[in-house]
Amino acid sequence: MNDFSITVYGKKIRFNLVMVYLFLNAAFGILTVKLFPQLYVVFPTNLYLTMHNVAEIASVVISCAVFIVAWYNYKQSKRLYELLISLTFLAVGIIDFAHTLSYNGMPDFLTVNSVNKASTYWIVARLVQAVGFLAIVITTQSRIKKNLNSNIYLGITISVTILSVWYIALRGKGLPPMYQVGKGQTDAKLMFEYLIIGMEFAALVILSIKKSQSTRYYLEAAILLGIFSEIAFTLYSSAYDTYNLIGHIYKIVAFICILRGLFVTSVVNLHLANRILRERRRKLNEANRKLERVNTLKTDFLASTNHELRTPLTAIIAFTELLMDKETGPLNEVQLDYLHEINESSQILLTEINNILDLSKVEAGRMKLHIEKAEICEVLQVVLRQLRPVFKQKKQKVEIVLLKELPSAFMDIDKIKKVFINLLYNAHKFSHEEGIITVEITLSEDSGGIQVNVRDNGIGLSMDQVANIFDKFYQVESTLNKHQHGTGLGLTLARHFVELHGGRIWVKSAIEQGSTFSFVIPLAVKEGVAV
Ligand code: ADP
Repeated sequence: MNDFSITVYGKKIRFNLVMVYLFLNAAFGILTVKLFPQLYVVFPTNLYLTMHNVAEIASVVISCAVFIVAWYNYKQSKRLYELLISLTFLAVGIIDFAHTLSYNGMPDFLTVNSVNKASTYWIVARLVQAVGFLAIVITTQSRIKKNLNSNIYLGITISVTILSVWYIALRGKGLPPMYQVGKGQTDAKLMFEYLIIGMEFAALVILSIKKSQSTRYYLEAAILLGIFSEIAFTLYSSAYDTYNLIGHIYKIVAFICILRGLFVTSVVNLHLANRILRERRRKLNEANRKLERVNTLKTDFLASTNHELRTPLTAIIAFTELLMDKETGPLNEVQLDYLHEINESSQILLTEINNILDLSKVEAGRMKLHIEKAEICEVLQVVLRQLRPVFKQKKQKVEIVLLKELPSAFMDIDKIKKVFINLLYNAHKFSHEEGIITVEITLSEDSGGIQVNVRDNGIGLSMDQVANIFDKFYQVESTLNKHQHGTGLGLTLARHFVELHGGRIWVKSAIEQGSTFSFVIPLAVKEGVAV
């Protein structure tokens, strides 16, 4: 909005009005002192020391804050430039602290304090800062993401920084002097200052050329003020004068800009993530609503077609039974045989249609339980009477073991019957001739409900098959299975019925070792929920 750009050698350089305003102000601050010599003051040592301490401690605290915020941002975002900001400001904070403690007039820090010692720390801190800015600017542009072991880099930064602080204090005399009493700043210091200004200027240009980012302005402002801070430091002649003070003030404001930029990044990122999440949730809700509509349509379709199929099928079954009845009139052997076939196949078809109907009801949440007081053993006996001919076909033996005396329970008798029929019919289908099927009934140790175990010594199931056995339409590929009819819905329905009672169903099995299907239902059930 406040941007305008000029093109230099084909490169578009973007400027921001706020930045231009900042530039003019910063330049004005320095120029006024140049133009009005009466503004140039050398402050009394004590007053200046106090101001210097306040300014520097503030900048050390801000550096630490920048380090912490950028560090935690990096941990989340893995953006390299945030790690660089964090480590740069940690090093800068430590060296600036050494600079504060070494200032002329402060109690000695490690060795005798001097303007030269404090200036050396200052220059090193600003060099680190300038190199950091360049690296940050380059990595900000590409938003490089790197999952580095940041703790190692943190360790290296702390060690190298502390070693440098220690080295400057103890062996600083071997380094080129930065300040000489009587002469003021040395050429070496000025050379470093110009180098720092050059690097920061390069960082600023790179930043202005590249794409706009929400936090770019804060970084730009910080670098701009960093440059003016250094310009002020090339101009001072006393460590307690106005230029020195201006340099420190510009530096603090620059650091504040970095900190603010980081907060803005975190907040902007949070808002962005939030917006993406909101959008995803909206899409998900929409998809869910669509799915619900389609599912209701599917359920309605299934219910109505199944109903349409069931009515004529029931008629077929009833009429075949009437025809088979001797009173309707005599039939020859072959005709009777065919009628038996028709009747049996129709019964199978009816069971499958009923299964599909039940499943669509369960899935639509329309399946209700009709709870009655009942004896589970009696329910089992009814089912066994019904299945007796089936077991007889394969000469299979069914044993009932009542492990504990059971009280009456509350259940939907029809649904529990269906569970029994399914488990027992499967035990019959997937066991060999003359197999033994055992039904154990007991009180469950953990839930206090009724536990039923249906055990067979049939073909069994592998671990993989056990994991999927209760899934819709799941059937195991096996030679025995090929000769059985079924749709893979029986166990799914059994699970739903047991769960509607507030119970659970599971299986233990091994190939050729037989299977034990178990289920538990609570003694009392109210509207599908265990009480
Ligand atoms: P269906 O019997 O109609 O195929 P089910 O859901 O009742 O459907 O069973 C799914 C599959 O689980 C069966 O096809 C069969 O492969 C396997 N299965 C079920 N019960 C047993 C059992 N007692 N022993 C071995 N396999 C079984």
